Amino acid sequence: MTHRFWVAADQLQGDEVRFTDEQAHQLRAVLRLRAGAEVRVFDGVAPVDRVVELQPNLDTGLIVGEAAQAPEPRVRLVVHPALLQRDKFEMVLQKLTEIGAAAIGPVITARSLVREAPDEGRYARWRAILREAAEQSGRGAVPELLPAVPLTVALAHAQGRIVMAYEGERCRRLRDALEDRPRQVALFVGPEGGFTPEEVACARSARASVVTLGPRMLRAETAALLAAGLVLHELGDLSWPESIA
Ligand code: SAH
Repeated sequence: MTHRFWVAADQLQGDEVRFTDEQAHQLRAVLRLRAGAEVRVFDGVAPVDRVVELQPNLDTGLIVGEAAQAPEPRVRLVVHPALLQRDKFEMVLQKLTEIGAAAIGPVITARSLVREAPDEGRYARWRAILREAAEQSGRGAVPELLPAVPLTVALAHAQGRIVMAYEGERCRRLRDALEDRPRQVALFVGPEGGFTPEEVACARSARASVVTLGPRMLRAETAALLAAGLVLHELGDLSWPESIA
């Protein structure tokens, strides 16, 4: 697989790409590529990759063609995972990108172990994780990272079909909540300690569908990834577009 790099719009000028110092270092010292080798770049906006031939010094490249990106899901899936401890949450961000989330909005809940909103350094690190996961998974879009807010605030602003995975629910399934094939889904998943009954009531009054993910108790990070994958699966977004009649 050709290496892919996300580039900011101002790194593209005419048919030239200007790599950042970090990218040039990666090309030279980590990937050990040489002038003439090809990589791909994408800016998160254009629906195609640019194929780029590396120039001497490997700090610039010449655009020599275009290549397809993985198609984005038709449903806009916005995942609202409760903030988790650092490693787990970073893993969730990476995997939600691979799976196909359009945006990720961390929420602070009553039983969250992590309660304070992340600082700007943390956001920068998270955005880098999202970019790298998009590069690696062939996506043309990097998920949008929304500011961390209390659950009630995120519920009040949620659009489309609102779904909350709740370990206390037994009957209603994700499938039932998606029957009318919404074009946008806001998916809420709780922290290590789960959602409180008050939070579930609050979600219901914000017209959320409260659903089960089955009889086994999942870790918060497992639940977030499984639920995101199931939403895309239910709505046909884990199929290759050409195979859909
Ligand atoms: N309260 C639990 C753990 C919560 S699991 C305890 O006894 O410690 C963390 C989150 O994952 C939950 O808030 C819920 O959003 C989701 N989750 C885990 N298992 C689930 C299941 N079987 N059905 C629905 N949601 C589940």
